[in-house]
Amino acid sequence: MVRTRSDVETRAVGQALTQVLVARDLVVLSGDLGAGKTTLTKGIAMGLGIAEEVTSPTFTLARRYEAAVALHHLDVYRLDEHADVVDLGLPELMDDDAVTVIEWGDLIASELGADRLEIRLLLCDDDDERRIEVLASGRSWHARAARLAGVLAPWTSEG
Ligand code: ADP
Ligand code: MG
Repeated sequence: MVRTRSDVETRAVGQALTQVLVARDLVVLSGDLGAGKTTLTKGIAMGLGIAEEVTSPTFTLARRYEAAVALHHLDVYRLDEHADVVDLGLPELMDDDAVTVIEWGDLIASELGADRLEIRLLLCDDDDERRIEVLASGRSWHARAARLAGVLAPWTSEG
């Protein structure tokens, strides 16, 4: 299990993940409100070399940040109609030289490909502590499982 004790640490986890992320990867973030989905995304952006500040896309739904491997950052919390999901143009986003990160992506899981990194962030009793569950699925992640475990090792403990 992955655990962090500050927002700085959660950003570091996101940054570390970019050692295994490649263009066309999909990262699905879920879990408690305020647990750190946007914070983790800021770390991924840092790792991709994006200098621009990443903000919560709650009211913009989707933003693209340019880099050698760009970042699509989506928040689908407020999407309730299937048509809205179609409007996001997910197939086009996924076909881009970019990593796609979707906050609340679990809400549209059926619209997403099988190959994905699911990350669930949960609040803990301590205000600044977070539990982070990482589940990689699909063939491309199968090949990277050991490397993924390796980059998460600094924050991983038993149980
Ligand atoms: P979400 O996008 O999941 O709603 P945010 O990343 O916007 O969450 O907010 C997380 C909030 O929790 C921030 O204010 C951040 O500073 C705070 N925080 C405290 N401890 C942590 C931690 N260990 N990991 C991530 N965020 C933390
Ligand atoms: Mg958020």
